[in-house]
Amino acid sequence: MKTEANELLTFHLTGERPEGAKNDPATLKLCPALLSGYRDLTRIRHDYPLVLVDGQAEQPVRSLSGIVNAILQAVAPRGITGERMRKNLLGLEGEIRALASRQAQGSLSELWTRAADNLLSADGLSAEERKALEKNLGRARSALPGDGQLLGCDEDAPAAVLAHAWRGIRAKRDRGVKKELRELLIKLSGILKNDYMRSNEARKPEALRATMGSSFEDEFDFKVMSKGLPKVKAKDLLPKKRRERIELALSILESQKFFGSERDEGAHSFEVGSCTEALSLFRARLPEMVDFVKAIRVAGLEIENAYREEKHDGYFDQFDEDSLSADDVGSFPSYLVCMNDKDYDDANKAALIEILSSQLPIKVLFQTSEVFENSSVKNGGGAFSGWNLGLANMAMSLGSAFVLQTTGSNLYQMSESISEGLMCQGPALFSVFSGSDAEVSNLPPYLVSASASQSRAFPTLLYSPRNGNDWASRFSVDANPQPERIWPVNEFLYQDEDIQRVSEEIAFTLVDHLATDSRFANGFMSVPRSEWSDQMIPLGEYLQGDETQSQGKVPYILMVGEDNVLHRVVVTRAVAQAAKRYESAWRNLQELGGINNSHALRLLEREKQIWEEEKQKELDELRSQLGEESAAAPAAPAVGEVEAEAEAEVEEISPDTPYIETVRCSTCNECTDRNPKMFMYNDNKQAYIADLEAGTYRQMVEAAEVCKLAIIHPGKPWNLNEKNLEELMKRAEPFL
Ligand code: SF4
Repeated sequence: MKTEANELLTFHLTGERPEGAKNDPATLKLCPALLSGYRDLTRIRHDYPLVLVDGQAEQPVRSLSGIVNAILQAVAPRGITGERMRKNLLGLEGEIRALASRQAQGSLSELWTRAADNLLSADGLSAEERKALEKNLGRARSALPGDGQLLGCDEDAPAAVLAHAWRGIRAKRDRGVKKELRELLIKLSGILKNDYMRSNEARKPEALRATMGSSFEDEFDFKVMSKGLPKVKAKDLLPKKRRERIELALSILESQKFFGSERDEGAHSFEVGSCTEALSLFRARLPEMVDFVKAIRVAGLEIENAYREEKHDGYFDQFDEDSLSADDVGSFPSYLVCMNDKDYDDANKAALIEILSSQLPIKVLFQTSEVFENSSVKNGGGAFSGWNLGLANMAMSLGSAFVLQTTGSNLYQMSESISEGLMCQGPALFSVFSGSDAEVSNLPPYLVSASASQSRAFPTLLYSPRNGNDWASRFSVDANPQPERIWPVNEFLYQDEDIQRVSEEIAFTLVDHLATDSRFANGFMSVPRSEWSDQMIPLGEYLQGDETQSQGKVPYILMVGEDNVLHRVVVTRAVAQAAKRYESAWRNLQELGGINNSHALRLLEREKQIWEEEKQKELDELRSQLGEESAAAPAAPAVGEVEAEAEAEVEEISPDTPYIETVRCSTCNECTDRNPKMFMYNDNKQAYIADLEAGTYRQMVEAAEVCKLAIIHPGKPWNLNEKNLEELMKRAEPFL
């Protein structure tokens, strides 16, 4: 059925499609043109699968490709000799990627073994090839820099990456704290032990026997020995209050449950599933935290023998939750909350706001498989509002929390920022779009989340309040693709109907992302090639023009079917308008991130105008000075004037008259050395022709030839009796 022009326009304006037409991208399994080359991700080297490296706090997450590159660099010989090794190892990488895409679970070493077995047992390998492959893979394996769980880009990826990085950071910090604790405990115990050794208790026969050990038991009479020892007076021992204080500190530090493996019996857990739980655990543990901090401080004073009861008793009696500083709170392990949009009820909303407004060490991963607000989707996409963007904006506006918004496809690229947020003191929000809702897209989650990132539907935002006090220091959108543009633009190559290769630069917009979501299928209609017309314009063009320019036109995007055939897919006005709104939102983010900032641009324009006015004023003054000097000495070349004035003068000089563009002279001495009487410097040390009669036309032409700035113009000879004038005039021609 042919789509008429008016039907096209009706669809664009109202969404009403010709009767019976089932030509939306979801039904036809179309993919945005710029994504079509990536449909089979197993054939493309990209960040996934990731490896959650064991025992690595510095680089907890690596990409499989990165690891393979590092191995190749370490073991593959350079040049052609290493070619087979490179081919074998890249083949292994592809096989591991294929296994991971089929949901194979395991560590890198486990999947490495499976992939290597698959390759070695493949049909068609000669014995020699199999032997070389086995040798190369064995060599590569010995260079494997570590091991860890392999992770595909799916709905588990954000929580797995965050939790792995958080555990690595926590384990490293715990090791340091436990070492310090051990030292404190040894010193505190030492004080008590020394005191005991001086006590009468330690001088009793049983205690002496225990001290000497069983080897000498029969050699000594411990009763006699005990009697012979002088008695210790109470004043020489630790005062009772001090002893009790040290014993209490020791007992608190020994029984603390904050630092240690969560596998230790009774150790506190810090990984929770909701903001409400994190807050209630934090509050419940506050008294323990207060006791712990007090014990640490008392221990420090006692070890230095600096505890003064008259001064410190009052201080520690009053020490409570309010006495804990941000540093004190930050010295405890942070809480990790992994939740998704389904857990985001009213109680958790309130708890999240409380956390983000505080200085509490609570790190929240908010993972969503949904970019658009539910009501927007239910209404057929009319509103297209992204509430998850609102979440990051709300968190940033509160000012004190670290905020990272990104997509599952960007987790590896943003791994340093993830570590920064997990390590910083205070709260952090990681808002991640996983792209994993298989019901709404036929593309893999990696592509859906990459599409959300590319289309500005879910841009990557980084807000780090500890980096400074202004937006320039705190906020960045630099991690987005082509952040300086409104929409990223990429080259799309295809063959037209005449089998000619065509290259087109096309923008990837919000509309391309919406086209991957079956819930918005009503806003899209594929038009057969035979019906393509001038009434259809590329969406990028439509978005750049205003309403009047595009009146009567219908915007389209390019999409590709599974059969690799190119489609023009027209879109409704509502869909196109959504792109305009997201464009406006992206411009705001750009401004905050210092890109095309309207204040900065306006300031720059004002400064430019001031500069131009001042420059014009200077030029006017110089011109008027020049006018006076010219009036006083009309035959002499002008000196020290501005270039523009000189150019005006030059235009008036006849090409027959020898002259120098004095204001451009760089004082290189070439001409003045040749004839210091004919060429002289003015007060500005710039050359002018002082006396033609003091030299020859040959010297003038030669000076013109050596002048690197070509500012000497020889004119015509002034002495017609000079030899070889014809040849000299020819040489002078380029400088006239
Ligand atoms: S050769 Fe040219 S640049 Fe050098 S001093 Fe002479 S005029 Fe100036």
